Amino acid sequence: MNTGMKVLKFGGTSVGSAQRMKDVARLITDGERKIVVLSAMSGTTNTLVEISDYLYKKNPEGANEIINRLEAKYRRHIDELYATPEYKQKGMDLIKSHFDYIRSYTKDLFTLFEEKVILAQGELISTGMMNYYLQECGVNSVLLPALEFMRTDKNAEPDPVYIKDKLRAQLELYPDADIYITQGFICRNAYGEIDNLQRGGSDYTASLIGAAVNASEIQIWTDIDGMHNNDPRIVDNTSPVRHLQFEEAAELAYFGAKILHPTCIQPAKYANIPVRLLNTMDPSAEGTLISNDTEKGKIKAVAAKDNITAIKIKSSRMLLAYGFLRKVFEIFESYQTSIDMICTSEVGVSVSIDNVKHLNEILDDLKKYGTVTVDRDMCIICVVGDLEWENVGFEAKALDAMRDIPVRMISYGGSNYNISFLIRECDKKEALQSLSKALFNE
Ligand code: ASP
Ligand code: MG
Repeated sequence: MNTGMKVLKFGGTSVGSAQRMKDVARLITDGERKIVVLSAMSGTTNTLVEISDYLYKKNPEGANEIINRLEAKYRRHIDELYATPEYKQKGMDLIKSHFDYIRSYTKDLFTLFEEKVILAQGELISTGMMNYYLQECGVNSVLLPALEFMRTDKNAEPDPVYIKDKLRAQLELYPDADIYITQGFICRNAYGEIDNLQRGGSDYTASLIGAAVNASEIQIWTDIDGMHNNDPRIVDNTSPVRHLQFEEAAELAYFGAKILHPTCIQPAKYANIPVRLLNTMDPSAEGTLISNDTEKGKIKAVAAKDNITAIKIKSSRMLLAYGFLRKVFEIFESYQTSIDMICTSEVGVSVSIDNVKHLNEILDDLKKYGTVTVDRDMCIICVVGDLEWENVGFEAKALDAMRDIPVRMISYGGSNYNISFLIRECDKKEALQSLSKALFNE
C-alpha cells in the first residue's frame, strides 16, 4: 500500500500551550490527508517522572501535590483552547479521567510497570486535546491509538511487521478521515504491557509510522529552523543546513545536535523516505531535508558532545601481538559501556566513552594489560560532510582550524562522512568558532 500520505510530528514545545496547539491545528489543516504524531505538552513528561519518583519513594502526598498542580495547569489549557461549552466540557472530562487514573496509582505498589503507565498519560492527553480541538473546528479528524499498533519485541526493538499490519488495520477503520492524530513515544512491549520508546522517542514514532505506511515524507516540526551547521548556543552566525544525507544526520544527532533523536533516522533511511525538519515558529522557512542523496565535496556541519572521558592503554605487549585489542574491547563490553572514538598506535590504544558508570571497574581490569591513563572533561568535536578519503583538502581545512587547540585524539576514515577530534571541554567554544569560520564563513 502506498498511502502517499505525509507524517508530521510536533514536539513538546510545538504543542506547549493552548495557543501553540491552535497554531499547529492551523498548520495541519491544509486539505491534505495526513498522519500527525504529537509529543506531550512541554514539561509534562518531566513532571510525570517527578510524580513517579515520589511514588517510588512511597510518598503519595508529595505525588498528589504535583498531580494537583499539573491538573490545574491543564484545566487552564482546556479553558483557553476550546470556544464552545460543549468542547470545554469534553476537554475537562478528558483531563479528569486521565488525572483520576494517575491518582489511582498513588494507592498501589509502584514499580517500573506503573511508571510506564504514568509516563504514557502525557501523549494520551495532548492528542486527545488536539483531536477535540480539530473536531470543534469542524475538521474530520480521528485519534489512532498508538497502543494498538506501536510495539516492541523481546529485545525492546520496534517490531516493524506488527506495526505495519496493525497500523494499516487502524487506518482502514476510518477511510474517510482527513487527519489522523496519534501519540508519539508510547507503545506496548512484547508482553503487551504499556511501554515507551525512551525519552525523546516521538521522533522515532514518526519515522516508524512513515516507514509502515510508506509515507511520501516525514516532517519533524520543532522550534528551530532546521539543523544548523554549528551549535547556535555557542557560535554566532550559524545557518541551517539545507540538505543532509541520512548518515550525516545520524552522526550529527548522535554527536550533540539536539534537534533530532539519533535512532529516529534508521527506519526512514531503510524505507528511503525523506525526513524534513521544519520550524513551527516560521512555517514557511525551508528547514533541512534529510535523504539518501549525498552532496559531493561539501562539509555540512559541526557538532560537539560533552562529558567524554578518554582512556589510554599503553603496553609493549601490544607490539606485534594479536588479540590485544580484543581483550581491551571485551572489558568495555562486559560493563555494557560503548566506545565512541578509538585511535591506535603500535604500542597503545586510546578510546573515548561517555558512560562512566563502571569506569573504576573498567580501569581495574584494563590495568592487567598495560599502563592506563585517564583524561576527564573532554569533548568530541565532529565535522560532518562528504569526507570520502579520495577527496583532498577537507581534512586539512578542519585540522588547520584546530591549529591552536590541544587535540587529544583524531579519528578519520571510519566512515565517509566524518572526522572527529577529542579536545578538552574548556576549549570547545574556541574550537567550534574556529571551525565555523574556516569551514562556513570564509
Ligand atoms: N514526551 C516524551 C519526552 O519528553 C517524548 C518526546 O517528546 O519525544 O521524552
Ligand atoms: Mg522531543
